[in-house]
Amino acid sequence: MSIRLHRAEGISGDDGDRLSLECPYCGVFANMSPQAVPDAKFLINTRPKHVGLVYQCDACNAPVFLRFAAKEFGDDYVELYRNFVELERPKERFPFSYLPKHTEVLFREALACYSGNNFNAFASMCRRSAASAYRSLGDGGKLRAFEEVMIAQDIAGIDDDSFAPIKSVLFESGEEEDMPLLNRVQAGILLEVLKDMFYQCFVRRGKLTRALKVRRFFVQEANNDLASSA
Ligand SMILES: [Zn+2]
Repeated sequence: MSIRLHRAEGISGDDGDRLSLECPYCGVFANMSPQAVPDAKFLINTRPKHVGLVYQCDACNAPVFLRFAAKEFGDDYVELYRNFVELERPKERFPFSYLPKHTEVLFREALACYSGNNFNAFASMCRRSAASAYRSLGDGGKLRAFEEVMIAQDIAGIDDDSFAPIKSVLFESGEEEDMPLLNRVQAGILLEVLKDMFYQCFVRRGKLTRALKVRRFFVQEANNDLASSA
């Protein structure tokens, strides 16, 4: 499982020279084809620990930058480990316009931390985003949010032990130094749970209110038409 850059023939690998991943631009899980490949001769001379390649997304043609660790230098080739680091991760999406302004600012930064694999910075920003949301929900807001999160835990069937750090981040109000350290899996759960809580507390209400306003407008218009034609 590796990729080789040859002095003469260029790039080759087990699956040809192609790979698949979620494109950071169009969000499609797409095939990627090599677009810019470093010169093997230059790498053999300088023997860097890491090598950067640019792939092109087959779906949207955007350039995707990947970093590979060098495995072996031969006389006329360089072999790379197949697992790579994505220098740009897909952005997490959310209908931010439904959130209170202050919460929106904090939650956007939280998602930027998540996309950058900074999971504990993400957790800290989740606590701030949640605290800001409770403030704008007013009296009983935190309790209501807590109920939504409990329902989410139940629907997703997450056991109490795995869920404890997520609850601690969102609902404990101690010092930030006391927050649990989260790994990638726990950060992923926190992300989905907080998105769901915001959805239930803000997006759902906003969408419903907007839809009802539109319905009422059309009923009003129809009544006006009836009245004017009578
Ligand atoms: Zn793309």
